[in-house]
Formats: sequence, C-alpha cells, structure tokens
Amino acid sequence: MKQTDVNPLFRSLDEQGEGMVSKAAILARLTQSGIATNDSRLPGVLSVLESIKGNKVSKEGFDALLSYGGTLFERAITGQLVIPEFTQFSQEVQQIFNTVLDNREGKVADYIPQLGRVPADKFGVAICTIDGQRFCLGDVDDAFTLQSSCKPILYCAALEEHGEEKVHRHVGREPSGLSFNELTLNRIGLPHNPMINAGAIMSSSLMRRDLPTADRLEYLNSIVKALSGDRQPGFNNAVFQSERETADRNFALAHHMRERGAFPEGIEINSTLDYYFAACSTEVTANNMSTISATLANGGVCPQTGQRVFTKETIKNCLSMMYSCGMYDYSGEFAFKVGIPAKSSVSGVIMAVIPNVLGIAVWSPRLDACGNSVRGVDFLTKLVERFCFHNYDSLVESKKLDPRRVRNERESNLIYQAIYAASIGDVNELKRLVAHEHDLNSADYDGRTPLHLAAAEGQAEAVGYLLKQKVQHNPLDRWGFTPLDDAIRHKQQAVIQLLDGDKDGPKKVA
Ligand code: GLN
Repeated sequence: MKQTDVNPLFRSLDEQGEGMVSKAAILARLTQSGIATNDSRLPGVLSVLESIKGNKVSKEGFDALLSYGGTLFERAITGQLVIPEFTQFSQEVQQIFNTVLDNREGKVADYIPQLGRVPADKFGVAICTIDGQRFCLGDVDDAFTLQSSCKPILYCAALEEHGEEKVHRHVGREPSGLSFNELTLNRIGLPHNPMINAGAIMSSSLMRRDLPTADRLEYLNSIVKALSGDRQPGFNNAVFQSERETADRNFALAHHMRERGAFPEGIEINSTLDYYFAACSTEVTANNMSTISATLANGGVCPQTGQRVFTKETIKNCLSMMYSCGMYDYSGEFAFKVGIPAKSSVSGVIMAVIPNVLGIAVWSPRLDACGNSVRGVDFLTKLVERFCFHNYDSLVESKKLDPRRVRNERESNLIYQAIYAASIGDVNELKRLVAHEHDLNSADYDGRTPLHLAAAEGQAEAVGYLLKQKVQHNPLDRWGFTPLDDAIRHKQQAVIQLLDGDKDGPKKVA
C-alpha cells in the first residue's frame, strides 16, 4: 500500500528524474500547504531531514520522512488538506487585507483608559484551518484582552458543565436588539442571550461553583489555553482593575437579575462579576485567537493538539448563538450579509468561524457605533464577497471562489486515513481520529481494519494503542484473516506477543 502511494509522490518531487528529491523542494511543498516547518505536530520531519547528509533525499530517506511525518505530512505535501491550494487562498486574503488597511474609520473604545491607549492603527488577521494550516498578516502577535469575545467561551464552559436544558433555564436565546450592556432582561426576567453582558455574567455564575476562587480562575485559564493549542493566555491586571472600578452597569445588571430570581441558588454577586471581569481581562493574540476559532470550526477539537475541548453539541449551540447574537446590534445585518457565526469585542477583535473549514481572528481596535471593529467587519464582508463562505451560498449560483475540498470525500477518507495511520504507526493521527469520534473498528472494502494493518506492518505501538481503545481484537477480513494471523504471517514478533497475550476472544492461527 505504501509503495504505490509513495512512488507518484516521490516522482512528482523528483523533477530532474534523478531518483533524488531536494530538501528545499520538500520544505517548500510543506510551507505552500500552510503547514509551518516547525509545526509541533511534525517533530520528526526536520530532524530526519537534518540527519540526511547533503541537499538531496533518496527514495529510502523519503520513506523515512513519510513515516516520521505521518499522515499530516503526507496529506500536506499531496494537497489533501481542507484548503488544498493554500498559497492561492492566502494571496486572495492578502489582497483583501491590503484593501481594508486604508479604512481608518471608527474610534477606539475608551470607557476605560487602558483600552483607549491601544494604538488605533493596529491591524492583524490570522487564519487557522481545521487541519492547522496557518496564514497571518500584520499585528498578529500583539496581546489584547478578550473582552466580549470571552462570552462564547464562558457559554461553552457552562454548557459542558450543566447541559443545554439547565443553562437555558437561566439565559434566553433571542437577540436583544439592544446594546450589549443595556439594562434589560427578557419578559421572564432572564438575560436575552449568552452573547451580551447579562448572559455572560450568568454563564460566569454557573461555572465550577464547587471550586475555590483561585481554582475557578485556573479552570478558566486552562480552557482558554486548551482552545488556543496549549498556549498560555496572559492576564491584564490593569484592565481587570479598571473594569471593576467602572462597572456600575454590570453591577446593576447583576442586581437586576438577582431581583428577578434569574441566578441559580446561592450566587454571590461580587465574585461572579469578578469572574466575568477576569475573563474579559484575559489576554490573547490574534494568532492564538485564530486557533480558538478553528477549534470551534473543528467541532470542539483543537487542530493543533488534537485535544477535544468541547463536545460537538456544545459547539453547535454556541455557533447558533454567535450567528444570531454575536455582533451586538448589528447581528441581524451581519448574519444577512456575511452569514457566518462571529463574536466581536470592544478590544477590536472579531472571531469568526467557517464550520468544518477554518477559524479567523481579525483585530483592529477602531470600533463603529455598535462596538464592532470597523476593519474587522469590512474584512469579513469582503472575504465573503470573494469566497462562498456565507451559510447559504450553496443555494445560489455565483462566481465566488470555493477553496475547500469536497466534504464527503473527506468523510469517506476517514476510514482510509485510520488504516493508513495504523500501517505507518502514526499514533498521533489515530488519536486525532478518535477525538473526531471516528470508529477505529471501521474496515475498508476488503474488511481490513486499522488493527490488521498495524499488525501486518509490525507497528507495535499502534497495536497497543488500538487495543487500549478497545477495538475488536479478532475482526475477519475478506479472506478470513484476523490481525493476529497477519502478524504471524509477517513474523511481527512484538505484535504477536501483544495480540496473543490478549486472551479476549477466540484465536485463529494461519
Ligand atoms: N468588559 C466589557 C463590559 O463588560 C466587555 C464588553 C464588550 O466587549 N462589549 O462592559
């Protein structure tokens, strides 16, 4: 299987037909695919390349590279990632960025001095796909506070802990049609939705009430960290203190909610508000925020680490709320014109999600009258004019570009991805597929399962992992062979021990 897969790929890189490919050509392919050469998921690739003497790699060296790089590396250099023509896509994005750069309308938020001091002209756009392809422009490494963009995160955390039914006993699901901090509740005395201040204060009140304050804060920090690909968020203490000191409206909202009996039993207003202010004062960069958006786009699994942070149901609920309520009192207009779930914040960031494709963070501090980043809205509007990312674009004929691979193709590929990953011992890829709830018992047309392939190829670590995942131990392929039969036929001693040592179910020896 590997031979036939690798040959055309090797040939395609071997432009001179000399049986060697240049290291530079391999790295260029990787970079063009949007995967950085220092991507944390490809630790082996660079060291294998370095260990090969000279500028060229032989067929054997290339095979070694493929087995170290695993499926991600192979998919990247063969154009199998969610946006295959990533360089072209990035060029289009660059053009939009350049057009929007001249837009200097709007005014930086100044309700607290710390926000007012942020240089108005900052502008960063970061994109991360569900395969972890990245493209960044401008000020993507400057830290800014989450402010309102913490609201989807708090909502997801509350949903994970209590479930949809309980959370929505305390917060509604309708757009308010009013400003984010309007002193108003819905007709049954609840916050209108989780994307406005009252709703986010409510989510805060629901989160890990069993923990002491410091541990609750650490919990919040750990969620933001996991969503951003294991990158530690910062905390802006000056913003936190300022938020607290100028929080009359948020206090009023909390008291109003308590008066109407909206909170769960036993809520303490000061600590609840402090928790919300802490979330608002958490610092990220546009780069990290694009990973957070991509984790939402990827149904709750962080593309960079493969860790499932939230369930698919939680993400579905959150994206629905972002779609209808995420852009303050421009939400209806934004859903109509741009048609993607997004959440904006007074710090000037907008996180936007193209489900199953990519996450975006646009950061530019000048805001319009609704509190949305002017360049952010402009950029996303133009992006959707160029690409068919609007939720309902599939219904109309248009000249817009579609940069993604066909989705069904991706899904049916999961079986082959799992089988292939098992055959080359790519345990990380198997873990990623498990995080996506792919059933590792799924067999191909010939009844071959990942365990068959891992056993036949002597991939003991992968066999061990599959057994731990409790896959069926003795599935029969089309010819009636079990994985143990394969291991015996191919004299894979370590695997034979693993499979034979496992006394679960009948054994069949070839
Ligand atoms: N900290 C701000 C507040 O609570 C966040 C609001 C926002 O970003 N819209 O008022």
